[in-house]
Amino acid sequence: MPQAFDIIVLGIGGCGSAACAHLARRGVRVLGLEQFGPAHDRGSSHGETRIIRLAYFEHPDYVPLLRRSYQLWDELEKSRSTHLFRKSQLLLSGPAEGETIRGALRAALEHELTIEQLTADDVSRRFPGIIIPEDHAVILEPDAGFLHVERCVDAHITEAQAHGAELRFNTPVRSLVIEPNSVSVTTDDETFHAARLVVTAGAWTASLLTALQVPLVVSRKVLAWFSTHEPTYHVDAGMPCYFFELPEGLFYGFPSLDGQSMKIAQHSGVEPVADPSAVNRDISPDDILPLVGFARHALPGVSSTLLKHSICLYTLSPDHHFIVDTLPDAPHVSIACGLSGHGFKFASVLGEVLADLATEQRTDLPIEFLSLNRFSHC
Ligand SMILES: Cc1cc2nc3c(=O)[nH]c(=O)nc-3n(C[C@H](O)[C@H](O)[C@H](O)COP(=O)(O)OP(=O)(O)OC[C@H]3O[C@@H](n4cnc5c(N)ncnc54)[C@H](O)[C@@H]3O)c2cc1C
Repeated sequence: MPQAFDIIVLGIGGCGSAACAHLARRGVRVLGLEQFGPAHDRGSSHGETRIIRLAYFEHPDYVPLLRRSYQLWDELEKSRSTHLFRKSQLLLSGPAEGETIRGALRAALEHELTIEQLTADDVSRRFPGIIIPEDHAVILEPDAGFLHVERCVDAHITEAQAHGAELRFNTPVRSLVIEPNSVSVTTDDETFHAARLVVTAGAWTASLLTALQVPLVVSRKVLAWFSTHEPTYHVDAGMPCYFFELPEGLFYGFPSLDGQSMKIAQHSGVEPVADPSAVNRDISPDDILPLVGFARHALPGVSSTLLKHSICLYTLSPDHHFIVDTLPDAPHVSIACGLSGHGFKFASVLGEVLADLATEQRTDLPIEFLSLNRFSHC
């Protein structure tokens, strides 16, 4: 006899684990299905750290969601007695008229956020070891920092299980059928039925949810840890996260957590992946050279010695903004996808939004700008 659940969550990564936790807390009979193990390194939610910030240069409309996200990460920390967020500040460096500085200033102004504008001299006094290009403006965001990404996913998983969610790992979903008032989801061993479905399948969304009809591009991204023993780069010495808009691309990174390495990555650039399950996880000189070039100029105390790397996946929507909605022809199916390489910081609030959409078909959180109808021409 097939088992019945109120809601199935497909994919227990960043957003899916959060959705499971929010749904389970509401007393819903929730089944989460995940193709890999808990907090695995095959999707988009791994690699130690994720930046979280409020002065959102991508669009000011994200700020109310971010405020709620901060609150929810804090609540999760308390509920699970763990440390998820580290307030380390964030330094943004770019041309005064570039998208990063202009966008961050706009978000800060519209939402009355605390930021500081610094000169290159201020930076060299306060953060020796960071070199700012002559023509750059600099913003420091004091309330920004980073999340311990795997710990966050684990905390949501534990929270969901503590509230009665049934989570099955190493259980790939092979197919799903959306009926007018229900869904069926088939794994290798079983078919599950539920009244509602939440799809949080990250890079695998397009292949599973053909009804979506919005093109999503999966891109291979490299995270690289370079050797450094420079004390000023350590998080405990006050080193902030950093994000540089340069002619060569957008580069970012984190303070050293271990006193031996710094994680650096490139946000810009798209390397499309046809099958997220078959992405090349080896690293080549082409992957590393842009990062070494960036570090040589901006962080001269970082060496070019690569200590380790990880391959991660961006899932890009056509406009690089998230898609968070119910399906137009199937309002009992909710989705969060196309997080476009900047979504982890929102996982906590997106879990809440998805729980609202799945249980009430509406939410009070301001997500209209992330709805599917903006792609009606696609
Ligand atoms: C290198 C890199 C750096 C980033 N930096 C930042 C940052 O600093 N700040 C920030 O906010 N964001 C950042 N992001 C973006 C952020 O990490 C992602 O937007 C977010 O993690 C996506 O979460 P998700 O739940 O959509 O995907 P995932 O966490 O990948 O979850 C999807 C899950 O669905 C599962 N799944 C898929 N198909 C099936 C199936 N058929 N059956 C069962 N399970 C299935 C997958 O295995 C996976 O666990 C970064 C991303 C990358 C790759």
